[in-house]
Amino acid sequence: MVAPWPATVSGITRGRGVGDSVAQDGTANRELLLTVIHTPPDEGPGGDTCLARYHRAMRIVIIGGGPGGYEAALVAAELGADVTVVSDEGPGGACVLWDCVPSKTLLSSAQAFSTLETAPALGVHFQGVPRRSVPAYEVDLPTVMERVRDLAHAQSDDIRKRLLAEGAGFVLGTGRIADPHTVEVTDGGQVVERLDCDAILIATGSDPRRLATAPTDGEVILSSQDVYDLKEVPERLVVVGAGATGAEYATAFLRFGSQVTFVVSRDRVLPAEDEDAALVIEEVFRRRGLETVKRARAVRVERAGDGGVVHLEDGRTVEGTHVLLTIGQVPQTGGLGLDEVGVRLNDRGGVVVDGVSRTSVPNIYAAGDVTGKLMLASVAAMQGRIAMWHLLGQAVSPLRWDAVAATIFTDPQIATVGLSEQRAAKADIPVLVEKLPLSSNSRAKMASLRDGFVKLLARPGSGTIVGGAVVAGYASDLIAPVSTACFNRLTASQLSQAFQIYPSFAGSIQECARLLAGRVQGDYRY
Ligand SMILES: Cc1cc2nc3c(=O)[nH]c(=O)nc-3n(C[C@H](O)[C@H](O)[C@H](O)COP(=O)(O)OP(=O)(O)OC[C@H]3O[C@@H](n4cnc5c(N)ncnc54)[C@H](O)[C@@H]3O)c2cc1C
Repeated sequence: MVAPWPATVSGITRGRGVGDSVAQDGTANRELLLTVIHTPPDEGPGGDTCLARYHRAMRIVIIGGGPGGYEAALVAAELGADVTVVSDEGPGGACVLWDCVPSKTLLSSAQAFSTLETAPALGVHFQGVPRRSVPAYEVDLPTVMERVRDLAHAQSDDIRKRLLAEGAGFVLGTGRIADPHTVEVTDGGQVVERLDCDAILIATGSDPRRLATAPTDGEVILSSQDVYDLKEVPERLVVVGAGATGAEYATAFLRFGSQVTFVVSRDRVLPAEDEDAALVIEEVFRRRGLETVKRARAVRVERAGDGGVVHLEDGRTVEGTHVLLTIGQVPQTGGLGLDEVGVRLNDRGGVVVDGVSRTSVPNIYAAGDVTGKLMLASVAAMQGRIAMWHLLGQAVSPLRWDAVAATIFTDPQIATVGLSEQRAAKADIPVLVEKLPLSSNSRAKMASLRDGFVKLLARPGSGTIVGGAVVAGYASDLIAPVSTACFNRLTASQLSQAFQIYPSFAGSIQECARLLAGRVQGDYRY
């Protein structure tokens, strides 16, 4: 006998599938279980799927419209939930409006100069310029920045249309959790809406870290978000902070003609990255005239005349016409009412979550930078999707932290996935490592590219790929087969047997995998 479908499914806080649907008081909801088991998966043409009808009653509010929030909303809408995104800026959040999209668009303009500079070596002759010489060029920064802004807004608009098309709601305003089933939306300090809900996803992202001793002014002392208001290319730019963001802006402004000084607290740039990769970038920076001040901890930054001065812990100073602070991001948890509802934070200020994005409050989830984990758009999106899959009863596995891929968009780019050689050594994990320089790749030779390499890591007994690094022009794309191998626990032999194009940069990944497969011990070699 098929049980009738309930008009509303009340009291369900976390529908985690047939196996453990629970009522709010924690007891198994037998009627619901029977209903889910007996309702056919699809009720025919034009009809709702069983899942969509089941979740129609589930009201979800997502606070924050970045990738952690909007990707979650798309999943929730697809599964039939009633989902609303509350965000204090346009869809796409900081990722689309301030961080990933603007910085990568800026770097696309910088890339044009790289192409220009390699052209003479490929036999392209510029009229009026001596053969084999690069013509003088300059960047029209206002045009570049206008393009950056236009692209960011266009991308945000695309996301807005997609959300609406999928049936998700979007409310512009600041969200605050009044209680675990109510989100208050304020505009200019006034409560404009109260949204009742069964579950909440916190996806409020992060803000640039600020230091009381280094106040930004948006003109000379800049945060990463101030860069896009620059009217002219800084003559002497001091970048404080040796991480990905600093390295990317240093790459762009070097190409635009700034004299760039990189102030780094460690003894190399990109200290958290694969050491070989960081050394390639350091060498490229050096060749392009970037000065690196190492083992230099900035303690104070202030304006001095028309420019800025960075005071270092050891008494040294570094001066520039502009100072860009790229000293990290902090989870954005302020004003959300987390304390009052019992959402726990860790000692770095991030919301504590488990592998399926649950917080310490049963019906509240969190995703993205606000969790203070790996601050990447792809991780935010995956945490958000996993939260919704879990909440809405899909089969779901915890996020695979061992297979996360990331790219630093320097020139060449550094893309990595999974375990690094340094981490393997530190954690005493035995790995086989194989590395091929890009200079041996036929496609790289044709394009006159020589900086970079492909590196793969595999377990010695099974040959399972556990990590990799690619340093090359389009490493962000080239890492894809390595990432797939790592995620699916393919062996070096399997990776080497998949077809790759000849000639191609990806051919080096195949060749590297082949060499690695030849070194695998044990019975799994072929
Ligand atoms: C300069 C820079 C470049 C980067 N480039 C890359 C890259 O190339 N690739 C990559 O993977 N990662 C990159 N990152 C990291 C990436 O931007 C973040 O990991 C990503 O944006 C996190 O997404 P999110 O959804 O957690 O938060 P966000 O994208 O920050 O979105 C959160 C949104 O919530 C809003 N919000 C906050 N509080 C409230 C509230 N109370 N009510 C309503 N709305 C609120 C915020 O204003 C924001 O719009 C970069 C970071 C920086 C700083």
